Amino acid sequence: MSNELRWNPVLGEWIIVASKRKRRPWRPETCPFCPGSSETGYGWDVKVLSNKFPALKTNPTVKVKSIDIYRVRPGYGYCEIVVETPIHEGDLCDIPLDKLKKVVDVFIDRYVRLGSDRKIKYVYEFRNKGEVIGVSLHHPHSQIYALPFIPPKIKKELRQARKFWKNRGKCLFCHIISLEKTIGKRIIYENKYFILFIPFFAMWPFETHIYSKRHLQSIDMLNDDEKYALADILKVTTKMYNLLFGFSLPYIMAIHQKPTDRKEYEYYHFHIEFYPPHRDRDKLKYPAGIERGAGTFTYDGLPEERAIYLRKACRKALNMFTENGYKCMGKVS
Ligand code: ZN
Ligand code: ZN
Ligand code: FE
Repeated sequence: MSNELRWNPVLGEWIIVASKRKRRPWRPETCPFCPGSSETGYGWDVKVLSNKFPALKTNPTVKVKSIDIYRVRPGYGYCEIVVETPIHEGDLCDIPLDKLKKVVDVFIDRYVRLGSDRKIKYVYEFRNKGEVIGVSLHHPHSQIYALPFIPPKIKKELRQARKFWKNRGKCLFCHIISLEKTIGKRIIYENKYFILFIPFFAMWPFETHIYSKRHLQSIDMLNDDEKYALADILKVTTKMYNLLFGFSLPYIMAIHQKPTDRKEYEYYHFHIEFYPPHRDRDKLKYPAGIERGAGTFTYDGLPEERAIYLRKACRKALNMFTENGYKCMGKVS
């Protein structure tokens, strides 16, 4: 087995190459995350596990040497799993607020701890849900990749935000919030500290973003009130998605925050992005020739129209929460 990074000299980015991952189990019969399994034990609300089949390791073996522009680096890093609830079924929306706040605390703790390793440049926390996304285990969980480099998408965002900060003297993301508020067509939900909207520049049909209203760069900068507000908006967002078509909607959730390489990123802004692959109840958007081959996204329809459907599902979500005794902290736009 080997864990290495190979440089793509054509695109200028790293590929993580791990030879052992091919052997990871595909949807095993007994859940390894349920309480009482050999991995998890009993008596927990949120559990952090190290990935048994990690793409990155702290003692990586490299099988090939760099030759010329074919650079190879050890695949150094951490791959962790955050099991968010002992309950086997469901989504973030099914986790009570105080427990979900604990999940936020775990994201903070892992961001800080893994980021304190000098070799780690970026702690990427994300969540894959649903079989069409390729999830091998159904038990609710998120993942963390602590990377020895800043991934390309983040690099791009940093570059744009830095430029905007320099040219306009303010934060790009704060500016987007104010634009959304002025235009008002794409905001779906907001509470005191966070706002949920479908971006003007959405790439996925029902893509949504959550921005913190306060200008901060990483999840560890949230105060306690903001942590609860984040748990609230995560509950609302996932419930909304699951009510949109009346089935548990697959999605990718990506947490975007500043790198952990000890540099200054005052111009960047903490946010969370959701990409559900569905474009309709029974249709998926497949990134194909134009997206994969050219890197340009096509969007069928209009984000402003989809916002109407999302708001409708969001209103339903709030009503259902109220019926079940959870009072949401914000309101539908
Ligand atoms: Zn389970
Ligand atoms: Zn900002
Ligand atoms: Fe982002």
